[in-house]
Amino acid sequence: MASTDALKKREIFSAVEDEETRRIEEDVRPKRLDEYVGQEGLKRILRYSIQAARVRGEAMDHVLLYGPPGLGKTTLAAIIANELEAGFKRTGGPMIERAGDLAAILTNMEERGVLFIDEIHRLNRAVEETLYPAMEDFRLDLIIGQGPSARTMNVPLKHFTLVGATTRSGLLSSALRSRFGISIRLEFYNQEELLVILERAAALLKVPAEKEGLREVALRARGQPRSAILLLHRVRDFVQVEGSGVITDWYAREALDSLGIDPCGLLPLDRHLLQTIIEKFDGGPVGVETISAALNEEKDTIEEVFEPFLLQQGFVQRTPRGRVALRRAYDHLGVTYKGDVQGKLF
Ligand code: ADP
Repeated sequence: MASTDALKKREIFSAVEDEETRRIEEDVRPKRLDEYVGQEGLKRILRYSIQAARVRGEAMDHVLLYGPPGLGKTTLAAIIANELEAGFKRTGGPMIERAGDLAAILTNMEERGVLFIDEIHRLNRAVEETLYPAMEDFRLDLIIGQGPSARTMNVPLKHFTLVGATTRSGLLSSALRSRFGISIRLEFYNQEELLVILERAAALLKVPAEKEGLREVALRARGQPRSAILLLHRVRDFVQVEGSGVITDWYAREALDSLGIDPCGLLPLDRHLLQTIIEKFDGGPVGVETISAALNEEKDTIEEVFEPFLLQQGFVQRTPRGRVALRRAYDHLGVTYKGDVQGKLF
């Protein structure tokens, strides 16, 4: 059984999925749209599209899902396939190295099946270009031979639905983006929605918990179901070692404090990031490359994993000249706010 010290050292919101994370997530992943909590606008759009595709007996429009990690993009892609009663294939942008790899996947799709490509912004150019006619006309244009004798061969494909997910919609080419009929941004979840997700996960994973204990976990889960579910596990470990095994609000607070997660859900790295902007760069503006060097943390991890929550919560602001710490960051760290941030914003 893990000691509190060992728990403290574990990565809590690791950007890299490990085996344990994957297993826990699979155990609690909702299978139907009705079980998928929150994101009401998105669900409304999908319900109509799914229903229409089913009535017509056709593949559904291609769907682009974008937003920070852990908000339910993969889950939704699998739900779309379930609701369509169609096959589901899952891959990732970096995994499709050559156009031929994509051709192999697409020629194996079943009629009306769903292909999920995670991190679709990381597809290379040749693969992306192969995708265009496949998405538009369900056709592969294969080039046979080289030089003057090269010719294009058209291979018809079964009608499929592509669900693409990205944490960086800004990096997507407009040519690719325009080929999705439905494009939806996932929002951070509120406390009540996270509480529902935690109650469901606790029941499925047979974790004894009081509602107030789960509420405390929801409060510190950064608006993300993945964080909520992982924290539930960490807190469960803690109460098994230190308490009676039941997650109460007191034990949840103790466990989360011991993991270095503060009542706003900020992690040590978030606080370090805010402190760096405030203390080393006089509150900013400072470029994300400079922050990344100062923190010795990958720029992409800062931009994709940490920053979205800090932006959404009003701790920092993105400006053309770099990141600026806002008043809430000063207040949170107990640093005297030196004044008007307006002059720094443009
Ligand atoms: P993403 O693909 O955006 O990184 P995932 O779909 O892998 O996120 O979701 C992470 C975890 O959170 C999964 O275990 C999933 O069960 C859970 N989850 C995500 N969204 C919801 C939701 N709306 N309702 C219930 N559970 C959710």
